[in-house]
Amino acid sequence: MESQKKFSPAFSFELFPPQTPQGIEKLRLTRQQLAELSPKFFSVTFGAGGSTRERTLETVLEIHAEGHNVAPHLSCIGSTRQNIHSLLEKYFQAGIRQIVALRGDLPSGMAQPGEFRYASELVAFIRQEFGTSFHVDVAAYPEYHPQARSAQFDFENFKRKIESGANSAITQYFYNADAYFHFVECCEAVGVNIPIVPGIMPINKFSQLVRFSDSCGAEIPRWVRKKLEGYGDDSESIQAFGLDIVTDLCERLLNEGAPGLHFYTLNSADLTSIIWQRLQLPRHIN
Ligand code: FAD
Repeated sequence: MESQKKFSPAFSFELFPPQTPQGIEKLRLTRQQLAELSPKFFSVTFGAGGSTRERTLETVLEIHAEGHNVAPHLSCIGSTRQNIHSLLEKYFQAGIRQIVALRGDLPSGMAQPGEFRYASELVAFIRQEFGTSFHVDVAAYPEYHPQARSAQFDFENFKRKIESGANSAITQYFYNADAYFHFVECCEAVGVNIPIVPGIMPINKFSQLVRFSDSCGAEIPRWVRKKLEGYGDDSESIQAFGLDIVTDLCERLLNEGAPGLHFYTLNSADLTSIIWQRLQLPRHIN
């Protein structure tokens, strides 16, 4: 973990673009609460194939206008170079200087992959068209991407994103800290020397967590799954146990030198704020 200790810790909150007027109002409130914690930035997800293009843009511009740092996600699958370029241009003109560059997953029913196949191609495109105007984050998978044909192959592909010009990485969420430490060691062994910020998913609803985890390949350790399952409909106990598990995970990651945390907030401030308070963040890490 030595490579990670030299980076100043960055704490960030991920949001998704709401669909309804009520969702927009709720997100404003959530943002107000989270902004009090002074994160380094907010990020806003982007539906692959451009399905949330306008909503992501509007949400990003609103957050930027409020005076916060904001990093739009940009998934390239199903898009053309021209589409991606015009969106990047809008962000650049608006003063946005950070992008989370992703491949995304082709929405069901959409057959055409578009002009980009992988996130590394998007990173290279951003560098080619916009030089170093944007700080570029990419996704990392300590438990490996679910479609990867092997761990080694997935790692090589991760490396390709860094070689294409990415500045830092945010991981898929995980509950096995050792997978993250091992991933960082693999990076160190090949000279990959960028911040790799752990993605943190607070535990709210068991069925939702199982659904997300099955699709993104994040493992819920058996004992955690069994405990959560055992609580049935008792959402208070699920959240209480989840808070203990996730706070312990964050504590361990930070103590070992993780360069910050990226919270998947799901547009809700409650659990993230409690974890934040329990960890007494922000704090200097050494
Ligand atoms: P890539 O890095 O391109 O990898 C995808 C797969 O292709 C991997 O299995 C990799 O091993 C393989 N691969 C890569 N390069 C090659 C190559 N040259 N040849 C063969 N195989 C290759 N999704 C969204 O739609 N919107 C979002 O806003 C969003 N935000 C996210 C934020 C974070 C922090 C994370 C971790 C994920 C996010 N996702 C989002 C999910 C992500 O889009 C999916 O996990 C997607 O399946 C992979 O995207 P990627 O950018 O990691 O792809």
